[in-house]
Amino acid sequence: MSDATTLLCPDCGKAIEVLMACGAKSYFCNHCNELKSSKRIQAANPEAFPPKDSE
Ligand SMILES: [Zn+2]
Repeated sequence: MSDATTLLCPDCGKAIEVLMACGAKSYFCNHCNELKSSKRIQAANPEAFPPKDSE
């Protein structure tokens, strides 16, 4: 797969697995074997979460 945005774990730097649950995204690191908060994922991958500069 050639997904443009590979999210990286803020703790170990490995690729994060994105899980969709009830319309909300969860971020799971297979390396740390735990869920990461979206805030931390966003902080570690700012390019994947461009600030919404609407007008
Ligand atoms: Zn990790």
